[in-house]
Amino acid sequence: MSEFKKTAIVTGASRGIGAGIARQLAQDGFAVVVNYAGNAEAAQSVAQAIESSGGQAMIHQADVADSAAVTSMFDAAETAFGGVDVLINNAGIMALAPLSEVDNRHINQQIDINLKGTIHTLREASNRLRQGGRIVNLSTSVVGLKLENYGVYAATKAAVETLTAIMAKEMRGRDITVNAVAPGPTATDLFMEGKSAELIERMAHMSPLERLGTPQDIASVVAFLCGPDSGWINGQVLRANGGII
Ligand code: NDP
Repeated sequence: MSEFKKTAIVTGASRGIGAGIARQLAQDGFAVVVNYAGNAEAAQSVAQAIESSGGQAMIHQADVADSAAVTSMFDAAETAFGGVDVLINNAGIMALAPLSEVDNRHINQQIDINLKGTIHTLREASNRLRQGGRIVNLSTSVVGLKLENYGVYAATKAAVETLTAIMAKEMRGRDITVNAVAPGPTATDLFMEGKSAELIERMAHMSPLERLGTPQDIASVVAFLCGPDSGWINGQVLRANGGII
């Protein structure tokens, strides 16, 4: 049965945007690897929700910053589902501080997870994705907005956008597209944590649509880029932010 299904690996799929993407791709017919870093219960509940709606999913713990763990995750996906067709580089962290104050731990963590993590998964994907595959990397609209305090985080995501365009060219001849989605403020733990209600309200009104994005808003865009109607979009960054920039 699983031979007929395409397989998607979604990194950081236990919560937030990644969980929304995993559920949407499962609904669209993909067998999904629900990757997580530490939150096994949350990953399990995403996989259970997929299976109880008739989809196929497995959970897999791997810190994307650990290249050996990323290799093992692709091995596990191939063993369970027979191959990998789609990679969604969604796992990410954010620590805000002005450049005058940013601490070494936060510099290293954001570079290790957001940038090196993406490089690790792209390397595996470039060696393993089947013909006709899809890669979607999560960037951020802050790459365009260039807000104060977002320096290190935005820099890691600017690098992800550059990797997106180069990877698209490196996939020449394999019918594999590589794109990035750059959300604006989206109602998840990553966005909400550490912000006052006033700041959240102000940021919700940055968009002319006057609300925060939802994980489903972003999942719909990612699913489009993984589906049959987006095959001519390649090497692009799609800013999904309600019109902020
Ligand atoms: P959340 O903090 O809500 O969820 C993060 C997810 O990433 C969790 O599933 C977490 O797993 C996983 N994760 C964290 N570190 C690692 C790691 N080292 N290896 C594997 N998985 C990891 O984040 P969001 O859903 O908000 O963000 C998803 C992506 O979207 C990120 O790349 C973020 O930068 C980007 N983005 C988000 C925006 C927003 O406003 N929310 C705006 C623009 C971009 P676990 O549960 O196990 O900890």
